[in-house]
Amino acid sequence: MEVTTRTVSRNRCGRCRQEGHNRTRCPHDSSTATSLAVAFRQEERARDLIRVRELRARQAALNSNADHAAFRTRVYEQVTDMQRRLQELTGGAAVVPPRNVPTVREVKIQEILFDRAQEIPDGLYKELMDALVIRV
Ligand SMILES: [Zn+2]
Repeated sequence: MEVTTRTVSRNRCGRCRQEGHNRTRCPHDSSTATSLAVAFRQEERARDLIRVRELRARQAALNSNADHAAFRTRVYEQVTDMQRRLQELTGGAAVVPPRNVPTVREVKIQEILFDRAQEIPDGLYKELMDALVIRV
């Protein structure tokens, strides 16, 4: 694309590449025209180089932004995953049956103690029954 914008300029002399005249009206002698043309080409190349560097820098910045966005997305996914797991853990704890209801095991032990109360000293019976209704 640089090539088209570079060569289309009509006011530029084909010999010395200076503006304001054409090849037939070029005021410069052959060696001056050649050195002017060489200088012009060098300037052009320098401008092209600057442009290429700018484009590369811009592309690098875009890539860096893309990297940043990808990084943010990954971190966000990780945080979301951790939140989900934490919720599962804490939610799982809440799913445990409320502790104001005796468990099957507690009920069974209470039945055994009740049924065989006669075989157990009074103090021990009371202590064990009390221990069974303790709620953490
Ligand atoms: Zn000229």
